[in-house]
Amino acid sequence: MALHQYNIHCILYELRPSSTKAGGALMISPNALRLLDRLGIYEDLKLKGYNFERIAFKNAEEVTTDLYYFGDEHLYGYQGLRVYRQVLLTELRNTATRLGIPIVYEKKFSHIVSESTEGVAFAFTDGSTRSADLLLGANGIHSLVRKYIVPNIVPKYMGVVAITCAARKAALQFPAGIDYPLPVSIHGENGAFVIAPQGVDGGEILVGTQQAYPEQDRAGWDALFADKGRLLSLFRTDMQDWPRIAQSALENIPTDTLSIWPFYVVPKLEHWYSPGKRVIILGDAAHAIPPSAGQGACQATEDSFTLATLLARLSSKVPLDDALDFWQRK
Ligand SMILES: Cc1cc2nc3c(=O)[nH]c(=O)nc-3n(C[C@H](O)[C@H](O)[C@H](O)COP(=O)(O)OP(=O)(O)OC[C@H]3O[C@@H](n4cnc5c(N)ncnc54)[C@H](O)[C@@H]3O)c2cc1C
Repeated sequence: MALHQYNIHCILYELRPSSTKAGGALMISPNALRLLDRLGIYEDLKLKGYNFERIAFKNAEEVTTDLYYFGDEHLYGYQGLRVYRQVLLTELRNTATRLGIPIVYEKKFSHIVSESTEGVAFAFTDGSTRSADLLLGANGIHSLVRKYIVPNIVPKYMGVVAITCAARKAALQFPAGIDYPLPVSIHGENGAFVIAPQGVDGGEILVGTQQAYPEQDRAGWDALFADKGRLLSLFRTDMQDWPRIAQSALENIPTDTLSIWPFYVVPKLEHWYSPGKRVIILGDAAHAIPPSAGQGACQATEDSFTLATLLARLSSKVPLDDALDFWQRK
């Protein structure tokens, strides 16, 4: 859609079917909301999510140690927004449809066939091939497009898995007599415990903490995700050390919503583009970052708009090589 704003024709290829539902919610900060506003979807989106300004940091004694302004209308022009992924995805898809941008579902990129100074040819797992001036790989942390640019780089596990669930705010036991700030990140001996409202009225909350855990292969992570009893006991490790509000959350976990989030990052890459400059990666494919910042999707959004702006301004004075170097550096 960012490319479309500059009349750059593009086609999206997505491996999943259009019926796939995205789970969970995202925090979106003003850097990305500003861009979604340019697409004309922010006003609608903000009515469909939980708007907030600050994330409170507390210690195990419930003392507020810091307030982080994730969003603020006066400072940044926008509040922060916590919105279900599926809501955002639906808005983006509807906008793409309205703009006439084709999305081809169940089409999995496989490999680059050839690259020249004129363009790139690439193949899908169904055996078909396409060619284009540029191929942009916005295909996530396990990007196959990245393999073409840096074949030996693999995402690095940080040794930590987050365990999360979606619970009811009404089940929490708040300390009496104070206006308890949410979202909150409580820090104690056990690490961090996060409570973040979601849904328009914030009646549902994400609850999460993290545990050191050995790296698993795909089957191992799937098995851990499926083992709700194991997840529950991991989640409740040393729960007596958390303040009462966290304990009350842990006592009221809807086990079917238990989920895991192994922390992986993409090591810093020298280039986000191929030597021929016709294959470019962005978002998590290029720079999946530690999840605690709540910035991965926001930065992926920034990537797409900044890249589109540069591509639209290419000229003999601003060749593709220089533009891409500048884009990655900034
Ligand atoms: C539990 C959790 C919570 C998070 N919370 C936040 C948050 O609050 N705020 C925030 O900003 N970020 C958050 N993030 C990070 C955020 O989800 C990612 O940074 C963001 O989704 C990256 O976007 P992307 O488009 O680069 O990749 P993705 O969202 O991974 O999208 C990649 C797409 O490419 C498709 N694809 C993959 N391979 C192929 C292929 N070979 N061919 C065709 N299609 C393919 C995939 O199906 C997918 O649709 C969170 C992440 C997790 C796991």
